[in-house]
Amino acid sequence: MSYRLANLQGRAVLVANDGVYDVERHSGGRLPADPMEVLVRYTQLHGLAAELGAHPDAALSSVTLAPCVPRPQKIFGIGLNYRSHAAESGMEPPSTPVVFTKFPSCLAGPTDDIRIYGPTTDWEAELVVVIGGRGRDIPAERAWDAVAGLTCGQDVSERTTQFASKPPHFDLGKSYDTYGPIGPAVTSLDQFADPADLAIRCEVNGVVKQEARTSDLIFSVPALIAYLSSICTLEPGDLIFTGTPSGVGAISGTFLKAGDVVTTSIEGVGTMTNRCVEP
Ligand code: ZN
Repeated sequence: MSYRLANLQGRAVLVANDGVYDVERHSGGRLPADPMEVLVRYTQLHGLAAELGAHPDAALSSVTLAPCVPRPQKIFGIGLNYRSHAAESGMEPPSTPVVFTKFPSCLAGPTDDIRIYGPTTDWEAELVVVIGGRGRDIPAERAWDAVAGLTCGQDVSERTTQFASKPPHFDLGKSYDTYGPIGPAVTSLDQFADPADLAIRCEVNGVVKQEARTSDLIFSVPALIAYLSSICTLEPGDLIFTGTPSGVGAISGTFLKAGDVVTTSIEGVGTMTNRCVEP
């Protein structure tokens, strides 16, 4: 059975029946409370999800979820991974993945505020892959087996900082505190008819800015896992922000400001709603 793994006040919870279920308690202690430790044993969540009763511990509408993966060892970001975004950026589609990092201190929850630290802060809706299996040299044919699930992400980017140096240093411009909202939950792959073809959308103040399908990725999820794991050992909880489609604000010179509301949705995963505030 499929699962949706989330984080409530530092404890792993499963989301079902419009509510949350504490993983440690409902597993009778077979699974730990820490969301990072649960990800090591993500394959056991299918069984637990099938055993949940009809009565959640709390209604989903009454709780505030934290980042579903709170302390990843690594967060990879992939640049220019949709042809539409490469074209609007005036760049050739890359022949090797363009990889940067977002430092884990930038993570935020699915309803947390984004603190706007600079005047050229931009939105980037992205599919985020959550690694479940530890591994190196993972072949593309087996790469989905190493995935604990998928979630939504915003690769919020301060463009002036991103391009302040020559060559540009993406890492810092994309790592301001709160510039990495993820969630609402790590959604298992059996939730999707085809996990490689999902609608993704970003709205700002209710206006659609980005709309695409993840089947348009230049480097697919298996290709990215094979490439990254040929260099780094992937660990449970590592995140891959797989890139953003066309429609970012930098193209039109429109950026986020305090008061804006960013809504990020992926088919089958759910929606994040993050309000922009002064730092
Ligand atoms: Zn991005």
